[in-house]
Amino acid sequence: MSMISVTEALQAILPKIPGKGVEKIPIGDSLGRVLAEDIIARRPNPPLDNSAMDGYALLAEDIQSASPENPVPLKVREEIPAGVEAKTTLRSGDAMRIMTGAPVPKGANAVIMQEDTKRDGDTVLVMDKAEVGENIRLAGEDVKTGEVVIHKGTIILPSHVGMMAVVGRSNIFVSQRPSVGILSTGDEIVDLDEVPHGPCIYNSNGYMLAAQIRSAGGIPNYLGIAKDKEEDLMEKFHWALQCDVVVSSGGVSVGDYDLVKASLKKMGQDMVFWKVAMKPGKPLAFGTIADKPIFGLPGNPVSSFVSFEQFVRPSLRKMMNCNQLYNKTIQARLTRSVKKKPGRLHFLSSVVDWKDGEFSVTPAMEQGSGILKSAMNANGLMVFPLEASSLSEGDTVSVQLLE
Ligand code: AMP
Ligand code: MG
Repeated sequence: MSMISVTEALQAILPKIPGKGVEKIPIGDSLGRVLAEDIIARRPNPPLDNSAMDGYALLAEDIQSASPENPVPLKVREEIPAGVEAKTTLRSGDAMRIMTGAPVPKGANAVIMQEDTKRDGDTVLVMDKAEVGENIRLAGEDVKTGEVVIHKGTIILPSHVGMMAVVGRSNIFVSQRPSVGILSTGDEIVDLDEVPHGPCIYNSNGYMLAAQIRSAGGIPNYLGIAKDKEEDLMEKFHWALQCDVVVSSGGVSVGDYDLVKASLKKMGQDMVFWKVAMKPGKPLAFGTIADKPIFGLPGNPVSSFVSFEQFVRPSLRKMMNCNQLYNKTIQARLTRSVKKKPGRLHFLSSVVDWKDGEFSVTPAMEQGSGILKSAMNANGLMVFPLEASSLSEGDTVSVQLLE
């Protein structure tokens, strides 16, 4: 079996990922969901020209000569609180008391802030000049009627929720979340409520994958642990196929008890087993059974973690018709030299910092596929290219940002 690149694996996987349907939800529940419609403004924001300050609406021309030594008196004709429109049109020589957010009266072309005035009965003394348009927020300066304010496929952030409210949308269409069955495998793997004995290992992958699935917008279904026996594996995989997607960990390598391959092969003709030219995480099983995507990830914790980020997260996002499939990648300056053998692309658990106006990246000293602590302390995966064998301090490298 020859090795394929990460890109080739993704090119084979993504076309086989089916899309989910849509559902309607209140915007208050939409954080982290993928928008399934364009959000179009039905009215401008702000709806009218309005004041950015508490002060006085007036004509800029009337106060050209105003200064503290030479205040200009204007007659205060009306008072305009926010949410109320002036009853009259402002004329030269007049002013109107206006509050922040209140509509600017017809005839006025500037607002002078309260701090630059002195009030004396129904006269205001203006002690500074103003430009035309000063302290006026124009109708539609944020959003224009008919404008697409949020595009279909966007992952919804708090500011998107705010914008949906600005344009008056209470319910929106989002993509349904895929349900993802998680199956751990291995005779040595035990669940957290079991008393650990000798060589047994807690099922950390199962719980970590559940968290990754949730952070990618999926609904994790924890299905426990299968023994390294074909019958048990096949039975549990069958069960897992009630979900939209299945993710397993372990049993895809070349060991004597790596029976996930054999079991999946029996269950589906469409399964492929790759050696991906990456580290950590070389072995990978992928295919569809009854049109449901199955990912057989390697068992080592960091391999499972990194393989999920490369292959499963983009697939789950594709299922939700998300317009951003991949984690963001930045360019950063390497803070120490690193070496490796050419032939595989390495993902190094790393810390990204902002230093002297640019990103810096520091790969953890320990990078083993069992060193979960390095991955835990990382906020990025530095990409050490396939054919490269050494990189020096000061080199510019790509880093995938982790959620
Ligand atoms: P495997 O790919 O099944 O040979 O597993 C590779 C390594 O990962 C072994 O040391 C396993 O004990 C470990 N491993 C497999 N599955 C899990 C799991 N669910 N949680 C933690 N470690 C695991
Ligand atoms: Mg195993």
